Amino acid sequence: MDYERCFSDAIDRLKTEDRYRIFADLERDAQRFPTALWRPEGEEDHPREVTVWCSNDYLGMGVHPDVIEASVETARAHGAGAGGTRNISGTHHPIVRLEAELADLHGKAAALVFTSGWISNLAGISTLASLLPNCLILSDALNHNSMIEGVRRAGCDKKVWRHNDVAHLEQLLAAEPLDRAKLVVFESLYSMDGDIAPIEAILDVCEKYHAMTYIDEVHAVGLYGAHGGGVSEREGLAHRIDVIEGTLAKGFGALGGYIAASKAMVDAVRSYAPQFIFTSTLPPSVAASAAAAVRLLKTSNAERERHQHMARLTKHALRAAGIPVMENPSHIVPVFVGDARKCKAASAMLLDRHAIYIQPINYPTVATGTERLRITPTPAHSEAQVAELVEALVDVWKTLGLQFEEAKIIPLFPRAAKAPAECVYPEMKKAAE
Ligand SMILES: *Cc1c(COP(=O)(O)O)cnc(C)c1O
Repeated sequence: MDYERCFSDAIDRLKTEDRYRIFADLERDAQRFPTALWRPEGEEDHPREVTVWCSNDYLGMGVHPDVIEASVETARAHGAGAGGTRNISGTHHPIVRLEAELADLHGKAAALVFTSGWISNLAGISTLASLLPNCLILSDALNHNSMIEGVRRAGCDKKVWRHNDVAHLEQLLAAEPLDRAKLVVFESLYSMDGDIAPIEAILDVCEKYHAMTYIDEVHAVGLYGAHGGGVSEREGLAHRIDVIEGTLAKGFGALGGYIAASKAMVDAVRSYAPQFIFTSTLPPSVAASAAAAVRLLKTSNAERERHQHMARLTKHALRAAGIPVMENPSHIVPVFVGDARKCKAASAMLLDRHAIYIQPINYPTVATGTERLRITPTPAHSEAQVAELVEALVDVWKTLGLQFEEAKIIPLFPRAAKAPAECVYPEMKKAAE
């Protein structure tokens, strides 16, 4: 067996399909978010300054001075690591406090933190479903890989309902005995298209057919709702959902994932999930920085307002220039390319020629033929940076012969709302002065 050859062939297959991924070597500047240093391959000693337009640190919480301070101060006080798994030696006070913050955020009795959002879905879905006798899982067709893996690992029956199609979900639920255990798993905000699930209608049919509900709010926590509890908070529906799952690594700018639910559900996952039991827990400093971000966004709406404003402004400016922005009601700005090679080329050209960093989104993240650039404006992007982005994309579209749309001039603020003030964090402002 030529082991080496086997792996290099696997890589070559990806390369011929234009699916081989190359990461840019970047260094975020905590004082000047969303600016970063890029070290081009072979020119590592000559870093170039770039503007990042594809971070999932949606609100820049990872560079917020209070969040950094919580991390540094806690590391000084309690050290770098947690010291192991929570069952053996790793439970610490900052993670206990973080879980209390998260339970409160979603109005649930309890919460449990995992090492990532990916692990929380794998553990949450598989453990809960496997503890329910003869459970049937009903999963939205566009659910994230971590949910699909959770469904697989549960090992019980599953059915996939067409994306956001409540009539199809109802048809599948109605075909089952009312007293059969059913777990319906879906997301609130799908991050590649930026569309939002009809949560209320989903809950209506779940209640009608006595199904348990599990929602992934990864792309909404911190960003939506009066306290950052996600779309379920914004729509006043959190109390009707059994399990709310979220990440600490995107809107909250740190690392980790969690579920929030009833005491019995959380305790069952804590007690049965190998993905929780047999792995070391997050360091105290990470738990403390996540808790600081959660707390901050519970009381401040300025970041959320400016975030929505910048997303709307970016969509508006791109459409006015004829760049094909895919329609959605959220903060995600997907720009349609529809070709894997051109998508990669567009991303490379943006970086090299325009100092703008936007990763190409190709298969398997999205379906072949729907390749796109996924742009994520943050509260820290400026109007001037939006103008630079538009100019750069127009140049790239022309150079690569990509399709323009008819320019659309749509009203920016239908309700004539005033633009929120610039959202520059205190320390950044100091650095800029
Ligand atoms: C990123 C993502 C996750 C995983 O969260 P991490 O904390 O990054 O592991 C889960 N669900 C969805 C929908 C995601 O996009």
